[in-house]
Amino acid sequence: MTTEKDVKIHVKGLKKSFGHVHVLKGIDAEIKAGEVICVIGPSGSGKSTFLRCLNRLEEATAGEILVDGQSITEKSSDIDKIRQHIGMVFQQFNLFPHYTVKENIMLAPVELKLKSKEEAEKKALELLKRVGLAEKADAKPKQLSGGQQQRVAIARALAMEPDIMLFDEPTSALDPEMVCEVLDVMKELAAEGMTMVVVTHEMGFAHDVADRVFFIDQGVIMEQGTPEEVMDHPKNERTQSFLSKVL
Ligand code: ADP
Ligand code: MG
Repeated sequence: MTTEKDVKIHVKGLKKSFGHVHVLKGIDAEIKAGEVICVIGPSGSGKSTFLRCLNRLEEATAGEILVDGQSITEKSSDIDKIRQHIGMVFQQFNLFPHYTVKENIMLAPVELKLKSKEEAEKKALELLKRVGLAEKADAKPKQLSGGQQQRVAIARALAMEPDIMLFDEPTSALDPEMVCEVLDVMKELAAEGMTMVVVTHEMGFAHDVADRVFFIDQGVIMEQGTPEEVMDHPKNERTQSFLSKVL
């Protein structure tokens, strides 16, 4: 049984509109600490908007999101504090081109005065080792392949020591031969117990790594369950139709 205490992210009746375009039409979800959620669904269905609401890159139009029991949707909540605990990785890596790899990773913790330069550097080197890029510490982003840059982007997010990581199609901009190296880093994070919400078109990854899969369509979670339930035995006609096109 799930108690409120185990719930890391609690989404209640989340709605998001842009003008009169209703993108999210009422999302309810409970995500437990350490759970890996993969979000799948057609283009334009609201997956990115959902993810962006989770760290308030978008303001919810209605509903509530609680993280560790604390509302993050209330106007009065401290958004900088919230974001420190929630790392995000995008399709485009967005590394700062004029800084070295190491500096990219050190920047936020130093700017926010969470770490001294020395501590941040030590942490950056540790993280680079963890994503298999220790030897690239002093390289500039453009000297790296796409897969390497995305691994740096993951390390940069981890430098804030988040307890939730959000990934929005982290491998969609990569050449196929680089997808695995990024997914492998994500698999390791999952195995270490990170709470993760991953929007992805990598059905193999979702099947292997997700504890639960959310199929989002037309702004609602049409179907959710284990990968076996949602991907191998979808009940909803729209899930079936989506999977028949992507699998
Ligand atoms: P997905 O990630 O599933 O492809 P998105 O969440 O990006 O879908 O977008 C869902 C819908 O919301 C799309 O129709 C998109 O055009 C619209 N949308 C997203 N962001 C904005 C915005 N900032 N302003 C207006 N419309 C937006
Ligand atoms: Mg998207």
